[in-house]
Amino acid sequence: MNAVGRPDFAIIGGGVMGCALAYYLARAGERVMLLEQSRVGSAPSASGASAAIVNLLVTAPDALLHQSLLTHQLLPELAADLQERTGIDIGLTRPGSLRLAFDDRERPELESVIERYAAVGYDAEWLDAQEVRTIEPGVSPRVCGGVYVPGTYSLYAPHYVRALAAGAAAHGAVVRQGLPVTGLRRSGDRVVTVETVEGRVEAGHVVLATGAWTGMVGAWLGLDVPIGPQRGQIMAVQTRPPQPHVRQILSHEDGYIVPKPNGTAVVGATRELVGWDGRLTPGGLGFLAKLAHHFVPTLAESTVKHVWYGFRPLRLDDGPPLVGPLPGLSNVSIIAGHGPIGITLSAAAGSLLAQSLRGEEPQLSLAPFDPARSGISAA
Ligand SMILES: Cc1cc2nc3c(=O)[nH]c(=O)nc-3n(C[C@H](O)[C@H](O)[C@H](O)COP(=O)(O)OP(=O)(O)OC[C@H]3O[C@@H](n4cnc5c(N)ncnc54)[C@H](O)[C@@H]3O)c2cc1C
Repeated sequence: MNAVGRPDFAIIGGGVMGCALAYYLARAGERVMLLEQSRVGSAPSASGASAAIVNLLVTAPDALLHQSLLTHQLLPELAADLQERTGIDIGLTRPGSLRLAFDDRERPELESVIERYAAVGYDAEWLDAQEVRTIEPGVSPRVCGGVYVPGTYSLYAPHYVRALAAGAAAHGAVVRQGLPVTGLRRSGDRVVTVETVEGRVEAGHVVLATGAWTGMVGAWLGLDVPIGPQRGQIMAVQTRPPQPHVRQILSHEDGYIVPKPNGTAVVGATRELVGWDGRLTPGGLGFLAKLAHHFVPTLAESTVKHVWYGFRPLRLDDGPPLVGPLPGLSNVSIIAGHGPIGITLSAAAGSLLAQSLRGEEPQLSLAPFDPARSGISAA
């Protein structure tokens, strides 16, 4: 087999995690090769399918909350650098979010959430039914209030992933698309070659950023990595005047509606453990239609513009995302298993792992995401 490259870092997988890591490593001057079996951010990867809400994870454990805060700090500068180097606008906006309440009994818990936002310096306030309708005229008459967070970000996921890959390339990375990795050859505690359909890559360090496919890729190394696919069906609708546009991100327990700069509203998303079943189903689309109608009744008469799905990389044992070195191997790391929050954490996770791989102390500890803590080992 021919050699296709000898980078310091070979990153397998061009979803948001692989692309963010490639970007931050290349920006720091490292020699990086990114290997994506398809096109970056294309179906059925999770990243291009995402609704791309970038929430602050105030109800999550501290380690995840702090990474979401770091992402909020990084995004404006990241968007500007990507725009300048690649000409791609990632569609970063701050539409704010409204967590709707349909029952007064939801209020005490939501008020405790407001305190958590305040604790990290973010504005959040309780709006009564009339105030909700003032900023979001289309919501259901059944809505009795909600928590308004003006600082919530959103972006356009397909452009974001493409821009990260192009940004990595602009900083010197080699980005190979349409090039599946077919195997990993191990010698002792090292992976010596990454095998592709075109030839082998001999890298100093190999990173698995293979999303929902990570369980399969880990098996090549004899590892049992508990990450697999969770199907998310999702839909974009376009309102027609005189229907009011959705203005902020609306959410409740079951799902969300996200306004996009092109005038559509994205309604998401199902969470289905159906293996690699890549179909759109009446059950899934019916769920989305019902959700849209439940939040904003006039959306029942909007135009369906697009329906699609992606496979979220789910920790099948409910553990945290895995970010860090794989125990038992001296030159392999992983960045995967972010389930429904991967866009939210991407900038932080990519920059922190890049710092760690370069031998720096990461700005935030990655210890909570250490694969060793999840009992994963190739020893
Ligand atoms: C419908 C939906 C809505 C979502 N909404 C949100 C949201 O609003 N906010 C949020 O934060 N997150 C959201 N998410 C979750 C988020 O999209 C994911 O957590 C994130 O995209 C995971 O990124 P990843 O890079 O780990 O995986 P992926 O994007 O799946 O990328 C993995 C890549 O690895 C490649 N690959 C696999 N095996 C190989 C191989 N052998 N050789 C080469 N390449 C390989 C795949 O082709 C793929 O491109 C949503 C997800 C879905 C499906």
